[in-house]
Amino acid sequence: MSMSKIVNISCPACKKEGEFEIWESVNVTLQPELRNKIMNRELFTYVCPHCKQNIVVAYSCLYHDMEKKFMVYLINKDEEKDKLLNVEDEQMQKILKEYRVRIVPGVSTLVEKVGIFESGLDDQTVELCKAFLYNQFTESKPSNPLLAIYFGGMNEEQNGLEFYFISEKEDPCMTVFPRNMYEEMLNDLKKSKFYNPSEMEVNSQWAKTALFGGVFSKNNPENTEKKDK
Ligand SMILES: [Zn+2]
Repeated sequence: MSMSKIVNISCPACKKEGEFEIWESVNVTLQPELRNKIMNRELFTYVCPHCKQNIVVAYSCLYHDMEKKFMVYLINKDEEKDKLLNVEDEQMQKILKEYRVRIVPGVSTLVEKVGIFESGLDDQTVELCKAFLYNQFTESKPSNPLLAIYFGGMNEEQNGLEFYFISEKEDPCMTVFPRNMYEEMLNDLKKSKFYNPSEMEVNSQWAKTALFGGVFSKNNPENTEKKDK
């Protein structure tokens, strides 16, 4: 079931008050029309009735796909995490056996996770691909800080995964990560102790831990070689 409530918000531009619908949970299997409104960020965009300004409003929201068996929890404030997700809870334990459950900190990461799971990909491997691309980018362009990399969907033509780079000094750009490299990484990850579909926080921090922990070291000795600048 999807749940929403109306709240009052004051526009940061004109300071006038207006009403905004907040969705505490969204079940896209029962209400498929809400899926697109998440993906195009409509459910997180407040349009001020007075000055027509568009304002992105992030709030805690549970995205639930019963068919593809995943839940992504956008948790807007860190302190809400414990309140909203009790891993010890019996019902939660049951859900974790059946579902992939993830916690994300923002609207962009929610949209990204949904895209990853809808494409049938393993998000831990996708984070490792991103870490690989991150290193490649910062090594080739050390004077242009990379702010974020996002998975943007499958590229059938080039048989790979599309990633978008958001950097400080250049326009956003896209690269295609080869599917076979992704599959190889997934195989290696599955052989390591880091593979865990029940891990709830799969992000760049997780990828860093896995890489420093040597997720690929046995299979790829090149990873342990240090490069001199
Ligand atoms: Zn306004």
